Amino acid sequence: MPRPIVATVSVPALTHNLAVVRRHVDAAAVAAGGEPPSIWAVIKANAYGHGIETAVKAFSAAQGLAMLDLAEAVRCREAGWVGPIMMLEGLFETADLALADRYHLTCAVHDESQIDMLAHAHPSRPLDVFLKLNTGMNRLGFTEAAFPGALARLVALQARGVVGHIGCMTHFATADSDPGIAAQYAVFQRATAQHAGSVSVCNSAATLRHTECAVGSVDRPSWVRPGICLYGASPFADVTAAEYGLKPAMTLSSRLIGVQQLAPGARVGYGATFAAERDMRIGVVACGYADGYPRHAGTGTPIEVAGARTRVVGRVSMDMLTVDLTDVPQATVGSKVVLWGEGGPSVDDVATAAGTIGYELLCAVARRVPTNVHY
Ligand SMILES: *Cc1c(COP(=O)(O)O)cnc(C)c1O
Repeated sequence: MPRPIVATVSVPALTHNLAVVRRHVDAAAVAAGGEPPSIWAVIKANAYGHGIETAVKAFSAAQGLAMLDLAEAVRCREAGWVGPIMMLEGLFETADLALADRYHLTCAVHDESQIDMLAHAHPSRPLDVFLKLNTGMNRLGFTEAAFPGALARLVALQARGVVGHIGCMTHFATADSDPGIAAQYAVFQRATAQHAGSVSVCNSAATLRHTECAVGSVDRPSWVRPGICLYGASPFADVTAAEYGLKPAMTLSSRLIGVQQLAPGARVGYGATFAAERDMRIGVVACGYADGYPRHAGTGTPIEVAGARTRVVGRVSMDMLTVDLTDVPQATVGSKVVLWGEGGPSVDDVATAAGTIGYELLCAVARRVPTNVHY
């Protein structure tokens, strides 16, 4: 028998979350008297661990898909996706041009070297691009000073039929927290004001919290780029996914494979970090850090066992972790355990207990964990 751990992915939950985003941005467009944005469903990193093919099915109502691995883009085409595909980091080397052309990929252009590659390209049809502006995050993109020159080079390539549509994009560093997006957005508006074409600035946090920058106009159609919220996790530390009506799309579950009875003072696990506070029952769960459960999730991390909320105790091992069953008398070997997701704590709550964010846990579920897709 295989180990009882499984990641269950819900296609209806993914589809529901996309619809939540759609309603949210449509309402903002009505309020602002602008055009509702198109949505690139961000499915990088194997759709945040949920599976590319599953995401292609679940997000069929999205206008486009966004990612950064060319092999994943090819998988989307092979799965039947005919709409736009946005490569968020663009071309990595000249050889990528052939794939971008063949699979009709829209490419971010964030560095002069990528324009050099385009300058030597002879694509079978013009390649759509989004020129990326660095508005202060100082990760990818052209500075405001270099932006007009880069845009001019792309316009010249457009005249040669190498480049098709030219959009403009940027990425916000603090859409989820203070000081927000105002300063970066002002730079973006200023630098791109003279250019008619698509714009794209919003990740999940900006799409949900700063929805005014999601709204486009006829001259400047907008594309939003939500990722994490589509998977039912929150981009915010202070607002839960549930408060936005989002549903967890991945449930990590397993079973108890052992039970121990502890006398007061008896210790549990590596390092003997946890000592029984009284007579305690301890459950052993078939899930460890080699499955992607965070080792930094210490005593007190929430977990659901046999339908009751309890806590992790002691150190997470490679293949197992231990839980407090003292107040869960119904739990026995074989009882169901929900590590996060439907019927358990949110992935964000587990992440917080481990000092990280839901994104990291979803992306880190190990390959050895089988995925069960619900349609
Ligand atoms: C990952 C990513 C997104 C999506 O971010 P979320 O916080 O998951 O919504 C959007 N844009 C870019 C450029 C990204 O790299």
